[in-house]
Formats: sequence, structure tokens, C-alpha cells
Amino acid sequence: MTYDFIIVGAGIVGLSTAYKLSESFPDLDILVLEKEDEVAAHQTGNNSGVIHSGIYYEPNSYRAKNCVEGRHQLVDFCRQYDVDHEICGKVIVATEEDDIPRLDNIFETGKINDIEGIKKISPQEVTEIEPYVTNSVKGIHVPCSGIVDYVGVCKKLRSLIEEKGNAVTCGQEVKKIDNSQKDLSVTTDKSSFSSRYLINCAGLYSDHVAETAGVFPDIQIVPFRGEYFELKPEAEHFVNGLIYPMPNPAFPFLGVHFTKMVSGAIECGPNAVFAFEREGYEKLSFNLNETIETLNFPGFQKLAQEHWKMGLDEWYRSFSKKAFVKGLQDLIPAIRPKHLKKSPSGVRAMALKPNGEILDDFHYETTKNEIHVLNAPSPAATAGLAIGDEILERAEQAFAL
Ligand SMILES: Cc1cc2nc3c(=O)[nH]c(=O)nc-3n(C[C@H](O)[C@H](O)[C@H](O)COP(=O)(O)OP(=O)(O)OC[C@H]3O[C@@H](n4cnc5c(N)ncnc54)[C@H](O)[C@@H]3O)c2cc1C
Repeated sequence: MTYDFIIVGAGIVGLSTAYKLSESFPDLDILVLEKEDEVAAHQTGNNSGVIHSGIYYEPNSYRAKNCVEGRHQLVDFCRQYDVDHEICGKVIVATEEDDIPRLDNIFETGKINDIEGIKKISPQEVTEIEPYVTNSVKGIHVPCSGIVDYVGVCKKLRSLIEEKGNAVTCGQEVKKIDNSQKDLSVTTDKSSFSSRYLINCAGLYSDHVAETAGVFPDIQIVPFRGEYFELKPEAEHFVNGLIYPMPNPAFPFLGVHFTKMVSGAIECGPNAVFAFEREGYEKLSFNLNETIETLNFPGFQKLAQEHWKMGLDEWYRSFSKKAFVKGLQDLIPAIRPKHLKKSPSGVRAMALKPNGEILDDFHYETTKNEIHVLNAPSPAATAGLAIGDEILERAEQAFAL
């Protein structure tokens, strides 16, 4: 048979896209192909589990618009389908006087982005919300931030897609996309499929999947591992909700933070360490071809030249628990190494331009019968359902659905 759409990747972006397509066009035949044995096996299933408010993102960017809209949709979805979540609120904390102008800027961005209920708070008010954050100089309270079980969201999306008569097929790695004929021919490691259109939502491998279709984007994915510790049960009382530091403006990462999980556990992290393998979850994970590919990329060389010191600091912090804890103590001085145990890592797909610039916003490339999602960094899990709407709109326009 010839499908109407093949979607590559069953992370939250691929599944949200399939879900939105199947809701709007129930007659379409949709196939999601996922290389792993289950959905949400990479970024979506190994992230911090936070429902971001949208406070940080450049006004009018896709990240800002899709995060706010996606958050509302996500919370409604979780309520409707009984997926674990909690709107526990978050504090962003400045611990140095010098950070206050940047904190004020974040607040102003939040106002422009229409984030409900945000409030600048004094150190006393910070400690009323988070009693162990004792050395702040100012904070922002973001009551609409929360936590969610993203794997649970993806499992529910899968079942809704399948209820509509569509398929999510795991264990099929897309190797080649041939678009030389009217219909696309998609070859996996096990089989071959035909489709009128294709949407590439392959996360850490989205650039490679695009290349198999003859689309050579101007960006390359560079993997950055985020490592976590977890508070031992006797230390969980240090944290009530979400506690975030001031982000480093040079990077798209939010800094090592404390995150309450829906399981009740408290995670600390993630840091951001260059990974020598795109799906390298361990400190010593290494893939020769992928490492050479990254080292040869001019964008990575420029990034490394500019930020080598920060890169080394992150490496040191990766291997030294004491250094990791020092970062955490900026937020909660009472934390000690004995309070932490190791927790699994995640790997972020960071899209770099050849000039070394980090591509901040979500990014798509469209051909006559394909849409390639080439950058879907944080907050793409929060924004997933709105990204699905965005892709649906693009498909309607480009393919005259
Ligand atoms: C450490 C970390 C913390 C984060 N914290 C948050 C957070 O708290 N809140 C938030 O909103 N966002 C967070 N993010 C970002 C968020 O998780 C990602 O932006 C989002 O999950 C991206 O979803 P995706 O579907 O594009 O990618 P993925 O979830 O990586 O899915 C891509 C899928 O494509 C599959 N695939 C790849 N190649 C092929 C192929 N050739 N054939 C078939 N299948 C293929 C992969 O196996 C994978 O399942 C975090 C990310 C990380 C890594």
C-alpha cells in the first residue's frame, strides 16, 4: 500500500504530528516509523520532565509561541487522559547582585510572552516558597510551570493514533528515502514502504535522515549530554517544586536546577557536556564516525574555540561530584555530596550553523513532499502539541491537503 504520510521518529514531536494529522484528516493513512523498540526512547524519555512556562524565549519566536500554546494544550491533554502531571510552580533565583538586571530582563520577556501570574519576589518570598534557597538576592515566581510524565504522554498519543486506524511501528530504522518517483520510497533496516509525503522528526539524527533524502541542511546536530543526580530520600525535603538558577546567556541551556519529578523524586541537573556519540548516555560513550563528523564540522570548531573554557569546566564538573555539588550549593547551600546519588543522563540535539552560531529556534525545511524538523530543542517537549499544529499547517500549505 502507499501511505499518505510516513513520519520518522516516535518522540513527542513525531507522535504529536501524527496525532494532529489523524485528528484533522481522519481519512489519511499514517505510518510512524521508530528505530527503537518503544516510543520516547531518546530526548523525550530522558529529559527533565518539566512543563516550561515560556518565560525565557525570544518574543515571537516559534519557541515562545509554541511553548505557551503547547503548555496549555499539554495540561488539557493530561487532564483529559489522566496522564501524571502537576502544576507545582517554579522559582528562578539570582544569587548575585550582578545578575539582577538579567533577571529583570527575563521577567520583561515573560510579560511580553504573556506568561500568567509571574511575579518578582524578594529573598524572603523565595524562602517562603523554597525554604532552603537561603542566599538569593531576588527571584521570579512562575506559578504556571509544572512537571509531567512525558513517556506517559507519548504512550497515550500512540494509542490515540492507533485508535484512528494508523500505525506506530517500532524497530524500523529509516536508512534511505528515495524521492525520485512520484511517491516516496522509504527503506528501513528491515523493510520498504511507499508514501506520498514524509515528515522527518528524528531528533538527534534529523540531519542524517534529511541527508538520506538528498536534503543537505546548513546545520549539523551536535550532541550535548545532560547528566543528573537524584536527591536521596532523606534530602528530598530540601525542594518543594522547581528551582532554577540564572541561565548563562551564551548557551541555550537553563543551568543545573532542582526538579521535582512526577514520581516524587528530586533530580538535580542537567549539566551540558559535549558527547562523543549522539546517543551516548554514559561518560565514556564513544562513536568514532560521529566524533570525526563533529570535529570536522567548522561550526563545532568555532564553538570550541570560543567556549573551550566553559567546555572544560563542564567536563570537570562531569567527573567531579564535588564540583557538581558546588553548582547546586549556589541555589541550596545545605546540599552535600552525601545527599546525592547518580541518575540516568539525557542527550540534547543542538543544531549548530557552520559559523559556530547555535540555532535557538525550532527550524524546518520543506521540499515538494517532505518536511524536515531540523531543530527541536527544549522546550519542544512542552511545545510538542503546538509543534504538531505548526507542522500540520505547513503540510496543508505545501502539499495542498
Ligand atoms: C537532558 C534533557 C532535558 C530536557 N528537559 C526538558 C524539559 O524539562 N522540558 C521540555 O519541554 N524539554 C526538555 N528537553 C527537550 C526535549 O526533551 C526535546 O526538545 C524533545 O523531546 C524533542 O523531541 P523529538 O521528538 O524531536 O526528539 P526525540 O525524543 O529524540 O525523538 C526522536 C526519535 O526519532 C527516532 N529516530 C532517529 N533516527 C531514526 C531513524 N533513522 N529511523 C527511525 N527512527 C529514528 C529516535 O529513536 C527517537 O525516538 C530536554 C532535553 C534533554 C536531552
